Amino acid sequence: MTVKAPSGYAAIITGAGRGTRAGGEPKQWRDLRGRSVLARSLDAFAGFDRVVLVVHPDDMARAIRDFAGGVTIVTGGETRAASVMAGLQALDGQASHVLIHDGARPLVSDAVIQGVIDALQGGAQAAAPALPVSDALWNGAEGAVTGTTSRAGLFRAQTPQGFTLDQISNAHRLHPDDAADDVELALKAGIPVAITPGSEDNLKITFPADFARAERILGTAMDIRLGNGYDVHAFGPGDHVWLCGVQIAHEAGLVGHSDADVGMHALTDAIYGALAEGDIGRHFPPSDPQWKGADSAIFLAHAADLARERGFTFGNADVTLICEAPKIGPHAVAMQARLAQIMDVDPSRISVKATTSERLGFTGRREGIAAIATAALIRA
Ligand code: MG
Repeated sequence: MTVKAPSGYAAIITGAGRGTRAGGEPKQWRDLRGRSVLARSLDAFAGFDRVVLVVHPDDMARAIRDFAGGVTIVTGGETRAASVMAGLQALDGQASHVLIHDGARPLVSDAVIQGVIDALQGGAQAAAPALPVSDALWNGAEGAVTGTTSRAGLFRAQTPQGFTLDQISNAHRLHPDDAADDVELALKAGIPVAITPGSEDNLKITFPADFARAERILGTAMDIRLGNGYDVHAFGPGDHVWLCGVQIAHEAGLVGHSDADVGMHALTDAIYGALAEGDIGRHFPPSDPQWKGADSAIFLAHAADLARERGFTFGNADVTLICEAPKIGPHAVAMQARLAQIMDVDPSRISVKATTSERLGFTGRREGIAAIATAALIRA
């Protein structure tokens, strides 16, 4: 989800700094779990009509390669204020409001952005997120505490900082000297600034340890995987079939290398699919005689264990058997219980249902049974 900004809202993402206090290449270009810091910062503003990215001249080619299309890319100046000014000029008056965001804050949440927008929409001339200071504050010198400072009324400033385009552009023209942030310039220009809720996760990446912290925060994001599976087995000689781990008397059997449990095979493949781990054939080659006549519970248990090894739990699984006969309904609860037992999950997370194919096709002609399955895996 990204915030859908009201029409007329623009965003400026500042990424022109050469700051290397985080170590190595400029922090905003470094990889953070597969995407650059700047890419993550830009993602958060994808729902804005206009987005201007301000980069260092040395990074222009890379910025065009990574972000061209949808984003206006301009080069910044010597100071932060000069870079913001370049972004404001690129908007050329074509916006009512602008949110100015530090590109080194890649984990800004929708709620933080929405809070700024809501304040502006509610009539605030300017609004910016902050967190009240909760630690005690000391004065210190030469490694010793020399005094204390009251934390009452003190806030830690964050971004995005939101303004009307006219007012912040004027403030920058009036006070071209550098400032810690745009709120400081706004105050110098006499613009009142509302404080909106900030977030501890909206950290500014400055030091090497900040990358580790950002990765930990990202690591708590939920990873949800879906997989599907499909299988078919033909009827052959026999007097029973195995379906979802339940033996059912029938006028024919199912042909297969293992016990031909078509439903369990589809479910097993759905789990392997969610893990991007191929299919049953990859883990239990049919060319291997040890799996002849095997209980398919071995396959399902292996897939479920693999999911758990990777840190996943089961959201749910849904199996549909497609056949004219045998009747599945009377066995569905037993199938649900057996699959849940093999996967070691609560039966309420497992669904087994059936349909005919209206006598159409191979299942309709009672030549075999087909099964489809879906599995959802969750890693919190
Ligand atoms: Mg099969």
